Amino acid sequence: MVSGKHIRIERKLGDRDYHCRDLISKNLVMAHVESPYLPVFREKGGYQEENDQCHFLVRTPEGYSCVVYNTRPLSCREFKCCRMRIYRGANNLAGTIKGRRSLSTTEPDLEKLWNDRIRLLGIEEDGQWDMKVKSVLEDAGYTVELYNS
Ligand code: SF4
Repeated sequence: MVSGKHIRIERKLGDRDYHCRDLISKNLVMAHVESPYLPVFREKGGYQEENDQCHFLVRTPEGYSCVVYNTRPLSCREFKCCRMRIYRGANNLAGTIKGRRSLSTTEPDLEKLWNDRIRLLGIEEDGQWDMKVKSVLEDAGYTVELYNS
């Protein structure tokens, strides 16, 4: 998931279809809000002109999701900056997981937990790996936010 500032909505075609300009690749893309996300997308107000974040990012009980995942712009497909944020307590950012499975942290405790309990997990499927890592981190007292795109 990348910063939504690189996506400019050029035209709204109904309440779930948008012509968007990907300002990085310069491509024009038709983004379609997927049915399972329509209620939460509508609930958050849909497309909002003044919104600073990407219009298509929603929060669900499982974490953050892209409501146009299958029609997301090229630069979103090619670049995944953050798949998980790890907090000590509610608000102190302790680390992020970037790319597929790389931890970025300056906290020795989190780094040790990562090396001892997570780095060598033999789980290939990304969704299962996310849930296992979330559970290990939460057992150790961290709060985890997942980004699902
Ligand atoms: S991946 Fe989806 S939510 Fe993230 S910036 Fe792209 S369109 Fe927006």
